[in-house]
Order: sequence, then C-alpha cells, then structure tokens
Amino acid sequence: MPEGPEVETVRRDLEKLVVGSTITAVRATGRRSVRRYGDGPSALAAFESDVTGLRIVGTGRLGKYVWLQVDRGPESGPPGQESPAQESPAQESPAQESPVISALVIHLRMSGQVRWHVPSDELALHTHIVMVLDNGHELRFVDPRTFGEVWRTDDPIRELAHIGPDAVIAATDARTFSAALRARRSPTKAVLLDQGFVAGIGNIYSDEICFAAGVRPTKRANELTKPQAARIATHTQAVLTNAIERRGSSLKDRQYVDLLGEGGLASAAHHVYDRLGQPCLICGTSIERTKIAGRSSYFCRKCQR
Ligand SMILES: [Zn+2]
Repeated sequence: MPEGPEVETVRRDLEKLVVGSTITAVRATGRRSVRRYGDGPSALAAFESDVTGLRIVGTGRLGKYVWLQVDRGPESGPPGQESPAQESPAQESPAQESPVISALVIHLRMSGQVRWHVPSDELALHTHIVMVLDNGHELRFVDPRTFGEVWRTDDPIRELAHIGPDAVIAATDARTFSAALRARRSPTKAVLLDQGFVAGIGNIYSDEICFAAGVRPTKRANELTKPQAARIATHTQAVLTNAIERRGSSLKDRQYVDLLGEGGLASAAHHVYDRLGQPCLICGTSIERTKIAGRSSYFCRKCQR
C-alpha cells in the first residue's frame, strides 16, 4: 500500500512528465474509481466531461493524496485567481487562507497506480480511467482492488482539511512534533498511523521509524521520554526522506510502481518491516511481530524499548 514516499515519487514523476499538457479526451470505465460523481451509470460521463479540456499547470501532495493543479486553458487565467463573478462573501471564510486552486485529486489507497503510456500500449487489466494528453501520451489509472479514486475539486486544501500536516514537514519542527506526540495516549505506532495527527505514514514506515528511534511501537506515546519523542521526530524525517530518495518501497505484491512501471528501492533498506523471525541487522535478535491498531507490526525486542 503506497505511503507518503511512494505518493511523493508519483508526484515527482507527474511534475516531470505531464505539467504543461492538456487532457484532450477521457475514457472512464471503472465506476468505483469515480464514485464521487455518483453511484449510477451517469458517473462515468460526468467524470469525463468534468476532466476533459483541463490544462495541467502543476502538482501537489498532502500525505497519501496527490493532485494535478488544473485550469481550463489560457482564457481561464492563472490558478488561484477567481473571476470577479465568482466572488461572494460566503466564500471568504476565515479557514480559506490559501488561494483556490482547482485540482484533479488522485488517492491510490491500497493498490492504485498512475501509469504513463503511449496510446498503442496494451491496456493493463484493471485500467479504470484513461486520460489522453496533447503531448502524445496517456495517463492511466489502474487499480485492482478499486479502493482508490480520482476526482476534481476547486479546493484540495479545504477538502483535505481533516488531514494532518504532511509528516516530512511536520517532523522538521522536532519540538512541536514530539510535544504533540507525547500528548497522545495511544501506542506510538498508532499515533504515527493516524492521518489526522500527521499525514503520509503507513504500516511500513511507522515500523521503520520506531526501529530507527529505538522505541517499542507498542509504547504509549504519553509514556515516551522527551529524548525518545525527539528521536521519533528526527527519524520520521530521516526515514521518509531516505525512502523518497530511493523512490519508495515496492513489495513482492508490486502493488506500488512508479509512472513507468518501475519499483522503488527503499524496501532494501527496511530493518524490521516484514522481517519476522529474521535476525535484527543491528543486534541479531529475531524480529518479532505484534498487532497494533489492527496492523501487523514488526520490532526488535532488544533494540527497541
Ligand atoms: Zn536489534
């Protein structure tokens, strides 16, 4: 399941490959992938007409959500500038400090993939959306498990307001991050997994962060010492940054690959995740597994206290 580093890799690919192009045609065949447009057969056509003609002007990401910043072409003006006709007092709520940017949001969830193809490439099984670009390529949304989705919104920042700050950014302020962590009573791993606390950490990286920090993932966050909480902050940044540099983790199931279908190399750096019974790379003790917040969690009994 893609986490922040995998989604950031997708964003970087999108930034490089599709910014500046226009979506000239859309073929949507997977109703689950466009369920924000309704649950009837008209959802597919509604999505197609909403997205056709959009010009891609940038990219964005928050946690596990990635989006394309879009507008309707040269006559609609730069994103963030509303025409006077659209302005109304109701839109000027105090919460809305960021400029309004229309966005095509992609949430990969369990198994969603964004793939970059030429039109003659064979359609992969479970391709639910094809977006034809004016640069001779297609963006395809492939999703075997169909939990993922794609939709356009006029304000991704507001729509994702329930999501916490992105983990990489939040952890740079170690003092605030560790204080917020120590205010929680759940197991440390469960707090890291809580997308309302910080966004972008999933099952793999929460285990790796706890290991790197020398903290038992079951330890309640309010029982962490100040140095332990500070180490969680430091290693949240280090583990995620390192994984982004390695273009994410692709596991045996290959549920995550980049736009060109290539896997990431971060799995080779895993110390505990999915290493049950194997020797700890630091001390040789067998890696153990337990359940936290319903998720399999791996740790070294000796290195993590
Ligand atoms: Zn160990």
